[in-house]
Parts: sequence; C-alpha cells; structure tokens
Amino acid sequence: MTCSFWQFEGGQDFLVKRHRLSSEFWLDTIRMMILGLETSCDETAVGIVNDNADTGRRILANRVASQIVEHRPYGGVVPEIAARAHLERIDDLVRQALAEAGITFADLSGVAATCGPGLIGGVMVGAMTGKAIAAARRLPFIAVNHLEAHALTARLTHDVAFPYLLLLVSGGHCQLLLVRGVGAYQRLGTTMDDAVGECFDKCAKLLGLGYPGGPNLERAAEKGDPKAFDLPRPMLGRPGCDFSFSGLKTALRLAVADRLTPQIVANAAASLQSVIADILVDRTDRAFGMARAMNVTPSALVVAGGVAANQTIRARLDALANRAGIPFVAPPVALCTDNGVMVAWAGLERLRLGLTDPLDTASLPRWPLDMLTGVEAVSGIQDGT
Ligand code: ADP
Ligand code: MG
Repeated sequence: MTCSFWQFEGGQDFLVKRHRLSSEFWLDTIRMMILGLETSCDETAVGIVNDNADTGRRILANRVASQIVEHRPYGGVVPEIAARAHLERIDDLVRQALAEAGITFADLSGVAATCGPGLIGGVMVGAMTGKAIAAARRLPFIAVNHLEAHALTARLTHDVAFPYLLLLVSGGHCQLLLVRGVGAYQRLGTTMDDAVGECFDKCAKLLGLGYPGGPNLERAAEKGDPKAFDLPRPMLGRPGCDFSFSGLKTALRLAVADRLTPQIVANAAASLQSVIADILVDRTDRAFGMARAMNVTPSALVVAGGVAANQTIRARLDALANRAGIPFVAPPVALCTDNGVMVAWAGLERLRLGLTDPLDTASLPRWPLDMLTGVEAVSGIQDGT
C-alpha cells in the first residue's frame, strides 16, 4: 500500500480531481477506468468497469472463458490443466475486452488482478499478466483478494451501503461476513469442512449428474419432491453461524443406495437442495443475531458466489431478509460466478482509497479476508461508505 495525499480542485464544492498515489502516479478520481483479471479457479475472465462523475458506474466489458470442457472428463477442476488454459486464453481475452469497451490501454486508470486465494498456478497467470500491463503502461497495480471481489460486487450492481451482511457461497468458500468497509471484513462464520458448492458438486457426481454439479443438480431438482428423502441438517440450531456439509454426501449416498432411476435422482436432488437452503437460512439468521449483539444494523443481506445462482436458495434468503426487515440483494447470476468485472470493481474501490500494490506482490493460495487493509486502516472510519 502506498501513502497518498489529495489535491483538491473545484474549491468549496469539494471536487476531488487528482489523487497522488505515489511519486509516480496521479489518479483522476472522477473518471476511473479499471481492467480486472480473474484466473483463480476454472474461469479465465477479464472485465472493464468505469466510474465517471457524470455517467456513473458502468460495466464496459465482461469476457469469461469457462474451462468446463477441459475439466469435465475428470469430474472436477485439475489445477495444472486450469493454469495452462488460463495462459493460453488470457491475452486474447484482454484484447477482446478492450475491443468490447472500445478503449485502449491508454484509457485505463489502473490494472487489478486476483492475487489469491485460489489455485496458485492459475492465480499467477492473471497476476503476472496484470503486473506486466501495469509495468508496460506505467499504471497503478491493485492486488485483489478474490473473496473481496465477490464481497464488493453488490456495490457495483446495487450501490449497497456499508455495513452489510454477506453470505458468500461458492465452490471453494462458504462464509458469513460483516462487510464494514473496503478492506474491513469481519468473519462471523465459516465452513468447518466442505464449501457448499463443493457439496453440490460432489452430490451431483454421486447422482450421476456430472460436472458442473450445482446447475445440473438444480435442473434435476425441478422434477423432484423435496420431502422424498429425510436428510440431516448439520449445525442447524447450533450457536454461532459456522457450517458443515461433508456429512451430507454420505447421507445422500446411503439414502439413494444404488437405485439411480431418473425419479430417485430428481427426488434426491430436490431434497438435498431444500436441506442446503434450510441450513443457509438458519445460519444467516444466526448471523443477523450476532450483528445485532454487536449493535450493527446491516443495510442489506447480500448473497454472492456461484451458489447464489440457485433460485431456490435465492428465494429462501429473500424471505429471510423480508422477515428481518432489510433488503435482499443478489447480483445478476453472471456476476455471482467468477468474472473479471468483480475484480475490476474491487480494484476501483481500492484505488479510489489510494490502495495500490507493488509489482513484487506475491500470489497467495490462501489469503483470509481479515488480513486485508482498507478503509479502517487508511482513515479510521468504521461503518461508513
Ligand atoms: P469457485 O471459483 O470457488 O469454484 P464460483 O463462484 O465459480 O466458485 O462458483 C462455482 C460453484 O458454484 C460450483 O461449486 C457450482 O456447482 C456452484 N453453482 C453454480 N451454479 C449453481 C446453482 N445453480 N446451484 C447450486 N450451485 C451452483
Ligand atoms: Mg469458478
């Protein structure tokens, strides 16, 4: 992180026009244009967002190359294949994104790349590409935490104010977080074993629904009876808001035995989906209680991550937020699964605060959100936008 000071132009109207990021960089904060690169798992993705004082925030490009075809034969993501596929595609995706946005590198205010957590070979591809562009074009570089990118997306799409409660549910993560500011995340609960997307994927494999598991399982569940199988609901009603999903796939295997007829598969999928929704609702309700105990009133309940694409889960969380009397915010599905737009947006939010990173910043396979610096560290502000 570099030190910064502000240069004020526009007199009493407090129009902050230029921001000194370092001896090298001045930033025009009323016209920001950020390129974002995402390569932490199985999507190679590039996004461009801008935030102009006159036109507001806009997504100018969103290019995603999924690796489903490469990983399907193995029933899951193979890290080495993922890293090679990122390397083959990233340059072309950057070119496509610039063309889609109708800009050149010269129009950018900064370059953001996911630097962790994730599959390290893949993370390094995006991070090195971002650093190379930043170095060649003399632009500020922003090392983005993948989880932070998911966490802040709702501010791009719905302008959600801090603090808010975030349920982050993806293939690699399952957490409840109090988002207090940029870089200020308080983890209220996490999974003790599998992530919820991992549970969807493993159960889908067990039911012969293939990869990617979550969307296939949701489709199969449409024709099933959610009450057909009485599956356990791990952690339900327990204090705190941690999760546990690893027992569910064993319970499902025992329940269906080897009788995988289309109807049994549909019933098993519907039952599993309903039980997972029950667990997520119970844990999120607990998290509301924990926030209340800390005298924090979240402005919204936000869901993010690939599992947020699930319509049953969305509807149940919506009902919970209604009962709690706060808005429910779910970004569009394309921005819930991994994408470059969310990385660009997190980069923009950080850059606006003067938070940039040196070009020797390491790529990290593990990078807990509470290790970040942000609004609290910079200005001592809590709970404010
Ligand atoms: P990660 O990069 O951690 O794998 P993503 O944000 O890319 O996470 O999300 C992928 C995960 O989301 C996978 O586990 C996938 O099965 C799950 N998922 C995607 N769509 C759905 C859905 N409709 N229902 C349930 N899970 C889903
Ligand atoms: Mg993914």
